[in-house]
Amino acid sequence: MIQFEGETAKKSLKVMRTLKNAGHDAYIVGGAVRDLILGLPVSDFDLASSAHPNEVMKLFEKVIPTGVQHGTVTVIFEGEPFEVTTFRSEDNYNDFRHPSEITFLNRIDEDLARRDFTMNSMAIGENGEVVDPFGGREDLKRGVIRTVGDPDERFSEDPLRMLRALRFLSVFSFRFEEETLEAIKKSAPLLSHIAVERMTVEFNKLLAGPAVVKALKLIVDTGVYAFLPGLADRKAYLEKGMDVSILESKEERLAWLANDHDDPTTFLKGWRHSNDVLKKVNKILSTIEKVKIEGWNRETVYFAIPYEKESERVLACVQNRVPTYENIDQIALDLPITSSNELAVTGEDLLLWTGQKPGPWVGETLERIEQGVLKEEIKNEKTSIKRWLEYWQTQ
Ligand code: ATP
Ligand code: MG
Repeated sequence: MIQFEGETAKKSLKVMRTLKNAGHDAYIVGGAVRDLILGLPVSDFDLASSAHPNEVMKLFEKVIPTGVQHGTVTVIFEGEPFEVTTFRSEDNYNDFRHPSEITFLNRIDEDLARRDFTMNSMAIGENGEVVDPFGGREDLKRGVIRTVGDPDERFSEDPLRMLRALRFLSVFSFRFEEETLEAIKKSAPLLSHIAVERMTVEFNKLLAGPAVVKALKLIVDTGVYAFLPGLADRKAYLEKGMDVSILESKEERLAWLANDHDDPTTFLKGWRHSNDVLKKVNKILSTIEKVKIEGWNRETVYFAIPYEKESERVLACVQNRVPTYENIDQIALDLPITSSNELAVTGEDLLLWTGQKPGPWVGETLERIEQGVLKEEIKNEKTSIKRWLEYWQTQ
C-alpha cells in the first residue's frame, strides 16, 4: 500500500477521486509510481483515466488541452498541474516517432502494456493499491531495467527507448536485464531515425546521473555512441574511463565531452543546446586551455570567474587527477577586483578627463586599466588611475 504524503500527492488523489466520483476509472501512473516505491521525491504526478479528454475537461474548472489528440489534458488543480491521459494503446509506429494510430481503452492494464519498462508500467489506485502486471516492483527491488514485452519489438517501435534505458541506468545505478541489453546492441542503429531534441532530453538526464561512468561504458559497448550527435568518432575518448562522476553539473559533463572536439560549439549545437549552455561550456573550455599552459594564477583565476571550480573539475577529470581548490581559493581571495564592473573608473570618466570623442579607444583603455589593476601596477582608485593614464599618455 502506498501512502499519499505531501501536498501535491494529496492533490493528485483529489483529482483521481473527482474522476472516480464521475464514474470513470483513474490511477497515478508512470514515473511517479516508480519514484514513490523507491522512496524518492516525485517530480510530476501523472494520471491515467478511462475518461476521454472532453469528459476530463468538463469535470475541472481549469484545464489546458495539451495534447487532446493523444488523449492528454493538463488539469490545474489548486494551483498545480496534473497531466491526465486517457487509457490508450499505440499502434503502427511507421515513422519511428509517433504512433500512427491511437486507440482509447477502458482498462488500466492495457494502458500499462504500451509503456516502456516494467518499472514505469505500474499504477496506484485511490486506496494506495499498486497495479503491477509486469513485475515492476520485483525489478525495482533487484535494480533491473527490463522492457515490457519483447525488447526487439519495443525498441523498433520507438528507438528512443534505448536511450531512455541508458538514462534510467545512469540515474538509478541499475543494470540491464540480459535480453534488453542484447536488443539494444542489435537495434542501436535505429536511433538514427530519432529527432535530436528527443535524444537531448534523455542524454542530459543520463549525463546528470550518479552512474554516468557505467552508462557511458555501456553506450560504447552497445554501439549506441555511433548514432549520437558528434560522438560517432569519439569511441577512444569515451573508452578512456575518465572519472566523470567528479563533475558536478550537466555543463561540466558537456564540457568534458566537448573538450575532445576541435570545434566544441558545433558539437554542442549538434545537440541543440541553448546559447546559455554554449556560453558556459565555452568559458570552461577556454579557461582550461589557458590553465593547461600557465597553471592557476591571478590571470587565469580572474578569467575563469565565476566558473573557477567548474573549470578545475573538468581539467582534473581530463588529466585523471583529483581536483584541488585551495590554491584557486587563495588566489581568488587576493584578487583586487573580480570583474571589470568593480573598476573605480568608467568610460564616462575617460571621456571627461580627455575631452576626446567616444570610440574604440575607450574600451581598449578600460581593458588596459583592468590589466594594470589586476597585476597591481595601479591601485583601483580614481586618482591613481588618472595619474597612471597621464603618465602612460606621455610615453
Ligand atoms: P521522469 O521522472 O524523468 O519524468 P518518467 O518515467 O516520468 O521519468 P517521462 O518521460 O515523464 O518519464 O514519461 C512518463 C511515463 O510515460 C513513463 O514512466 C512511461 O510509463 C511512459 N513513457 C514515456 N516515454 C515512453 C516511450 N518512449 N515509450 C513508452 N512509454 C513511455
Ligand atoms: Mg515524468
